[in-house]
Amino acid sequence: MRRARRTKILATLGPASESPEMIAKLFEAGADVFRLNMSHLPRERLKERVEMIRAVEAKFKRPIAILADLQGPKLRVGAFEGDSTMLVQGQTFTLDADKTLGTGDRVHLPHPEILSSLEPGDTVLVDDGKLRLRVKSVKQGSATTEVEVAGKISNRKGVSLPDTVIPVAAMTDKDRSDLEAALDAGVDWIALSFVQRPEDVAEVKKVARGRALVMAKLEKPQAITRLDEIMEISDAVMVARGDLGVEMPLEKVPGIQKRIVRAARRLGKPVVVATQMLESMITSPVPTRAEVSDVATAVYDGADAVMLSAESASGQYPIEAVATMNRIAEEVEQDQSYWSIVQTQNAAPEATGSDAIAAGAHQIADTLNLKAIAAWTYSGSTAFRIARERPNSTVIALTPSVNTARRLALVWGVHSIRTKDASDIDDMAFRACKFSVREGHSQVGDRIIIVAGVPFGTPGATNMVRIAFVSPEHAAQA
Ligand code: PGA
Ligand code: MN
Repeated sequence: MRRARRTKILATLGPASESPEMIAKLFEAGADVFRLNMSHLPRERLKERVEMIRAVEAKFKRPIAILADLQGPKLRVGAFEGDSTMLVQGQTFTLDADKTLGTGDRVHLPHPEILSSLEPGDTVLVDDGKLRLRVKSVKQGSATTEVEVAGKISNRKGVSLPDTVIPVAAMTDKDRSDLEAALDAGVDWIALSFVQRPEDVAEVKKVARGRALVMAKLEKPQAITRLDEIMEISDAVMVARGDLGVEMPLEKVPGIQKRIVRAARRLGKPVVVATQMLESMITSPVPTRAEVSDVATAVYDGADAVMLSAESASGQYPIEAVATMNRIAEEVEQDQSYWSIVQTQNAAPEATGSDAIAAGAHQIADTLNLKAIAAWTYSGSTAFRIARERPNSTVIALTPSVNTARRLALVWGVHSIRTKDASDIDDMAFRACKFSVREGHSQVGDRIIIVAGVPFGTPGATNMVRIAFVSPEHAAQA
């Protein structure tokens, strides 16, 4: 199965979609990566979900990436007498260390380290920003606030602190257990929520030890302040617009999205644009014009992937939502201005053999109008660097590593194929031609480009470009 687009689609699984039949349908409709959201998925269900996806992968004989999304340090208030209370604008409301049920005047904030790091003037947002409190004074074990935006506050609502760098570990105990379970189950990517510092990502990488790649979810102003360092250490990033829009003024989000997408493309790291992309499709079979335009913008920006959350996890139209993204990406990529817009933002190659060869392969493909660049890759890095070029031709990644083939499902324009090790250059060229015909990327008489590191298997040693004709012999063996 070959996709008629370069932009990848990431679909979150949930109650509306976590059956083998639905996963197969979502894949057929266009989902390239499935997200398991550990905020909702019980840990003991994780392995079963991974196996369901692997069964679909086997059925379609196409590598599929699985992303396990760790909840991260999500802060919540405690519970209330009668489950909720109504706050009035201008009233005083206290967050404290007292474990008894909350009232109209106070509630437990079960994070002592947060209470001690709040300062007068700090904003406290509750329930995705629906309520806003302003810290007036702090003393040992409590913070007194004034209610600026009032409303109902109920048990265990989420708390966001856009002004405070919170001295909590990147991973909670739950995250650590979820991470172990995800690595055991063999997921391909781990996403970490509420990243604040590069060390947060480093901690996950230290545990993962290369068993999965790590994506930083950028959803806090603190992360935007240290964007370069966080991007440097992460394997990929997500523009997590949901929480970003809670913690920062909404109108700042589009600019930040552009900035992150550009920075990620410059580094050659996958970037996912997430949240509310087709929000109305949770309850409607058709999206709004604005949503279509939003997905199109991410595609024109050259993002690696666009993501569905509740639309595919708990909405009424999961398949329609994936199919809609698929159609939008296909259409935008056919638009006459698409390539010039995307490639205007290409960054220059870095001074490495890999990048010189990636840029060279792109140039050759353009000059000769070739349809495919086939890259032999162990770790995937050659394919990442070629994808960074956003070349007009498809990038076929040939790899003996099933992990690499799966991870690359997230990467812009990469069609990955798992195949046994290559014995020599002729074998590399032969099989590249054979697979490119088999998967519909070329026809007899076409030429394709083959990129590899020879001898094969030396990481980071891309050193060969070859142009090969697709012959009837290739087609016969395909
Ligand atoms: P979430 O992350 O869906 O896990 O909250 C994405 C976002 O905040 O946009
Ligand atoms: Mn989030």
